[in-house]
Amino acid sequence: MAEIWKGAPVVAAMKERMLADTARLRERGVIPTLAILRVGQREDDLAFERTAIKRSGTVGVEVRSVALPEDVDQEILVAQARVLSEDENVHGLLLMRPLPGNLNERMVRRAMRPEKDVDGITGISLAGVFTGSDVGFVPGTAQSVMEILDYYGVDVKGKRVTVVGRSLVVGKPAAMLLLGRHATVTMCHTRTADLPAETRRADILVVAAGKRGIIGAEHVSPGQIVIDVGIHVDENGKLCGDVRFDEVEPIVGAITPVPGGVGTVTTSVMLEHVVRAAKKNVSLD
Ligand code: NAP
Repeated sequence: MAEIWKGAPVVAAMKERMLADTARLRERGVIPTLAILRVGQREDDLAFERTAIKRSGTVGVEVRSVALPEDVDQEILVAQARVLSEDENVHGLLLMRPLPGNLNERMVRRAMRPEKDVDGITGISLAGVFTGSDVGFVPGTAQSVMEILDYYGVDVKGKRVTVVGRSLVVGKPAAMLLLGRHATVTMCHTRTADLPAETRRADILVVAAGKRGIIGAEHVSPGQIVIDVGIHVDENGKLCGDVRFDEVEPIVGAITPVPGGVGTVTTSVMLEHVVRAAKKNVSLD
């Protein structure tokens, strides 16, 4: 039986950290503020926004929602991103993605200041993941993986870590962060010749393939730590991950559940980025 590494205690620990920081910022008259820029009314975006607003209130961060109509002009969207980016009372800017198909996301990203890019989507933020610079921010999901490992006391130094998935949003930044902590990292993707062999030999397995149930008993070995980043809805409307939890859990040492694992932590990571951006702004360490 594995230990089930839930996101909730990680979130609680982050909340304590953020409350301490936001109290110090408020003493200086600074209210850390996140602007959410949304186009249209996608249910996913609205659900995320509701969660962000609810959680931000518990940690002393304010959220300002800016919603534009589905048929907004590209120029208006870019101009809005620029206005929020330049607003000195906004410390973090989150663009809800994907944008409707007719809009060019790259142009919006270019209008965003990396110091406010709390979701890590600008080129400078991503470059920072590779170069170790902290001008921008690490993409939230990759950072969530690290928060979970840190909270549960895992020192990745010298450990064999296999990351399944190489997207710019999750797999690559997660691999770079792990490498930065001196893990020995293997990255797997759709052309990996023998996925079960690669995943079985890991001490820590991070799965971000976006394929429901891709990892089963044949991919894991006793004692491993398994971090499941995937989020899917099954045919019964239930959330599930990239890992077949019921098969894998009896074998491995620890596993994050879906729901209740990585996804739970992502919102807090973004809010903590807002707090960090606000602290940097007033040179508060
Ligand atoms: P993505 O852009 O679709 O990338 C998936 C990656 O997995 C690709 O690199 C792909 O390889 C690899 N892959 C796909 N099938 C594979 C297979 N059969 N064997 C080995 N590798 C395979 O997905 P993403 O945006 O990184 O998201 C990954 C998952 O994380 C999704 O389920 C998403 O919903 C979830 N997610 C969760 C959170 C959260 O907060 N928990 C946030 C963001 C995303 P190739 O490069 O060769 O195509």
